[in-house]
Amino acid sequence: MVLMSPNPGELVMVAPRRAKPPRHLADLDLAGRREWLVELGHSAFRADQLSRHYFERLQHDPATMTDLPAMGRTQLVEQVLPPLLSPVQSLTCDDGATVKNVVRLFDGAMVESVLMRYPKRTTMCVSSQAGCGMNCPFCATGQAGLTRNMSTAEIVDQVVTGARMLASGQVAGGAGRVSNVVFMGMGEPLANYRSVLDAVRRITEPSPSGLGISARSVTVSTVGLVPAMERLTGEGIPVTLAVSLHAPDDELRNTLVPLNTRYSVDEVLAAAWAYADATGRRVSIEYALIRDINDQPWRAHLLGSMLKKRLVHVNVIPLNPTPGSVWTASSPEAERAFVAKLEEHGVAVTVRDTRGREIDGACGQLAAATDPEREQI
Ligand code: SAH
Repeated sequence: MVLMSPNPGELVMVAPRRAKPPRHLADLDLAGRREWLVELGHSAFRADQLSRHYFERLQHDPATMTDLPAMGRTQLVEQVLPPLLSPVQSLTCDDGATVKNVVRLFDGAMVESVLMRYPKRTTMCVSSQAGCGMNCPFCATGQAGLTRNMSTAEIVDQVVTGARMLASGQVAGGAGRVSNVVFMGMGEPLANYRSVLDAVRRITEPSPSGLGISARSVTVSTVGLVPAMERLTGEGIPVTLAVSLHAPDDELRNTLVPLNTRYSVDEVLAAAWAYADATGRRVSIEYALIRDINDQPWRAHLLGSMLKKRLVHVNVIPLNPTPGSVWTASSPEAERAFVAKLEEHGVAVTVRDTRGREIDGACGQLAAATDPEREQI
């Protein structure tokens, strides 16, 4: 934007104000919502009623909110529960047990979330940023760069959307609930600290404050942003912390996770152990196994010796294919040998399933590109 300066003839450049997502009930804690409702000319207790509609009944249709006065109800609901995520595409695989939702945010930014239904749990994998600034070369999200941070309500609404789909029986397997939330979609959650922490509070606090999902069933994953890990340690919220390690040595990790040049493997692991000590929670170490890159027996041995006797669990992730990447997953033999070596050190290991691969919905494949070839549901 160009404005006229008070000095005639001189032009001043003014940066355009970045528009923010519309404010939504889920951006605020219950006290903040009550204040907001009073500012809007309503009684504070309307905040509690609206919160129950949103978090408990998963409703956004004013017609169902018969405890609110009919006069002005639609306008009130439009004000405090504005639509944040416009559906673009919904793709399913695994006979309907995996659903990827591609949505557009108010400013056109696109994000994705993935619902994964298992026999005993249903996990929502949510995005915390549109794009990602961490630039890990094997991850599709990292290749497009960062568009922007998501707001608290934009993050929470992904979980509510999934919960609504489950409750209404739209997901194969009958009506159900979201039991787990993982911040493993697009973005680096700890680079959007405030919004993510508030989203964790909304997700874990019981109704009418939030969704009432146990903090132990919420996982926040990071590339190793050490100062933010330390801050998280001080919050006293017992979420599971996952660290995307991918290499036990700085030389290789500097290339796989570029942030490692700022915070080394030793520093990242020290912050992880401090988190485990403070919360009593077992830290997850994520290790995407890449053929001939990070899957050598000596690296398994080094990793095992660094993790042994720690409160830790290793998630080995067979590398998922991403466009433009020359890397591929390790052979089944190399994978088995890697896991066995870690187990020799007494380290707990599981190999993550490749849920969502067919719909580009697996780890590292979220690029918010829609696929015109596929049928929408
Ligand atoms: N930025 C955070 C949150 C994303 S979690 C983080 O990196 O931890 C997504 C997980 O999938 C991370 O562990 C990431 O390293 C891993 N991942 C990325 N690309 C992958 C790929 N192509 N195959 C398997 N895992 C991948």
